[in-house]
Amino acid sequence: MRTYEITDEDNEMIKMAYDTLAKASVEGNFFHTVGSCLKTSSGNYYTGVNCDCIHGSCAEFIAVGKAVSSGEHDFDTIVSVHPDGPAGLFSPCGNCRQMLMEYSPSVKVILADDDGNIIKTDIGELLPLAWKRLPTGDLMH
Ligand SMILES: [Zn+2]
Repeated sequence: MRTYEITDEDNEMIKMAYDTLAKASVEGNFFHTVGSCLKTSSGNYYTGVNCDCIHGSCAEFIAVGKAVSSGEHDFDTIVSVHPDGPAGLFSPCGNCRQMLMEYSPSVKVILADDDGNIIKTDIGELLPLAWKRLPTGDLMH
């Protein structure tokens, strides 16, 4: 698996994801358990938390939605956190991996490996032989 060095900026993104999670927490109301921080290629940051309801949303979707609705479409790196996750991080679910691959196939993901080490890798490493949009941007159907 191709990996990249974890930088001070990456650690700052982890902190921003935790700060976002803390801001969303309201005792006895909703369960915001995952925070996410997305860095775009232009160097801006967008954060999100999971939204807890019958058809809730992952934190990654919220962060990506904030970026896209701000006119940002190229992503550099994303990280998600959960206090009980390995190394305090959260591995994006399969649906989020597919979403990230479709929106920005060169995005890097910070997560923990099976030994609890923090790593950064390409989304393609987490979703081999992924379904991709056609070069025209269209869906295949
Ligand atoms: Zn997800």
